[in-house]
Amino acid sequence: MNKQVSELDQGLLVVLSGPSGVGKGTVCAALRERMPELVYSVSATTRQIRAGEQDGVNYFFKQKEDFLKMIENDQLLEWAEYVGNYYGTPREFVKKTLATGKDVILEIEVQGALQVKQKFPEGVFIFLAPPDLKELRSRIVGRGTETEDTVNSRMAVAKEEIELMDNYNYVVVNDQVDLACARIESIITAEHLQKDRQ
Ligand code: 5GP
Repeated sequence: MNKQVSELDQGLLVVLSGPSGVGKGTVCAALRERMPELVYSVSATTRQIRAGEQDGVNYFFKQKEDFLKMIENDQLLEWAEYVGNYYGTPREFVKKTLATGKDVILEIEVQGALQVKQKFPEGVFIFLAPPDLKELRSRIVGRGTETEDTVNSRMAVAKEEIELMDNYNYVVVNDQVDLACARIESIITAEHLQKDRQ
């Protein structure tokens, strides 16, 4: 029998969002060490590959027409346009992994997270917030990957995203990476206990 996505023996779907520069990448890297059993979904994107990134590891880097085909063929669980590029979560991988009982984490922006919430209201939605906006800007600038224009665009989107954080089950402030990770781990552990009692 094919397992349905909402069955209780499935893994947890964890969605982690937060504005650009909040440190999602760093938190996720630390979380990988702390919770090696968590499976990371690799997104598709049309943005340019950055130095140090690998196709199929950080993202599946796509031409725009190939990305649009994935949308057309309903291959994406969610997708969004973010600062001029498309980003989306390949559906099949997430479905299959959850069905094996493993937890899957999606590191995605807010518009996409809201789409996932419609489809998987039982997911665990965590918003990673910066201590404040000044700190956020200096983290984006400090990364050295953005022009002044894209820093400003990312800051504008960040403000909109922060306004939507009430849609999440949890808000974790990334004041210190270790602390943020510990909080996320506690959330996932608590959600498991809750699920097991159902
Ligand atoms: P970056 O270009 O810095 O790697 O990512 C930009 C934004 O896109 C980040 O907020 C990141 O979380 C988000 N993102 C990455 N993958 C996906 C995805 O599959 N779907 C959506 N909606 N957002 C994504």
